Amino acid sequence: MTIEKEKIEAVKRGVDLLALVQSRGIDVKQNGKGWFGLCPFHDDKNPSLSINPDKNLWQCFGCGAAGDVIRFVELFDRVDFKEAVKRLSDNGLQARTPKPKPTPDPPLSAKQKKLLARVVAFYHTAFGEDPRARQYLETRGIADKSVLSAHTAGFANGTLLNVLPDDGELIGQLKGLGILNQRGKEHFYGCVTFPLYDANGNPAGIYGRRIDDAAKPGCARHLYLTGQRLGLFNRQAARAHKQIILTESVIDSLTLLCAGIHNTIPAYGTNGVTGDHLAWFKQCGVETVHVCFDADDSNIDRVKVRNQH
Ligand SMILES: [Zn+2]
Repeated sequence: MTIEKEKIEAVKRGVDLLALVQSRGIDVKQNGKGWFGLCPFHDDKNPSLSINPDKNLWQCFGCGAAGDVIRFVELFDRVDFKEAVKRLSDNGLQARTPKPKPTPDPPLSAKQKKLLARVVAFYHTAFGEDPRARQYLETRGIADKSVLSAHTAGFANGTLLNVLPDDGELIGQLKGLGILNQRGKEHFYGCVTFPLYDANGNPAGIYGRRIDDAAKPGCARHLYLTGQRLGLFNRQAARAHKQIILTESVIDSLTLLCAGIHNTIPAYGTNGVTGDHLAWFKQCGVETVHVCFDADDSNIDRVKVRNQH
């Protein structure tokens, strides 16, 4: 079934992008003609998501994601084009009044998890074959091969696109997952990657750290799949230890792991302690969480919040 052109045009024109972004729980502030908010598609610390209400288009100056209302829903809700149009036709057309109610993301389907596992395996193979990501980690003091192998270190070195068959459906699925962006390029290109796992041991997300900061100055250095943060790194540590050292990033936890400290789980950046973390710690009977973030102001607040739990 093809979606009628008029319906797509009606959605693009009719749905209020600003209200849509707010409805997904993103705070926006006006600055001159534009509106800005924290980009949900990368680890954003300064609002880089720019929204142009006149054109009804958005763009992120950090990770380069961009598009219209349909593309926003595709990425944020992790659905394909058809479903995004459907969602917006069903309830988005009258969205001229902001309704800041965050809608939870649907978790990945079994099919998506399988595909994600294949991507993780592909990046892991590339990590073994292309030394650049390994060399980058060595400069960060992370060189323990058994640690890297146990955590399925990967490298998005651009070879994924070479092996993809000319299959529109597969490409669409990879775009839906956020592995490919709307231009069909790799989201994690140039990153060392680590899978993030759900409670059943399936990959639910990927963390990517750019290995060459100089190549694209101003670009996001820490990347995740778009939408809600899913999955944890070194998740099993909570099962084995009553005390957990919560770090700011996967890289920080890797540093501890290489030093023989196993009871560490990272947040998704300084504001990145999710319900998944808290529920998992509780489920595993973790008694104490030591917050080990870099000491700057943004982190002090976070420590206070954490101590209330
Ligand atoms: Zn972004």
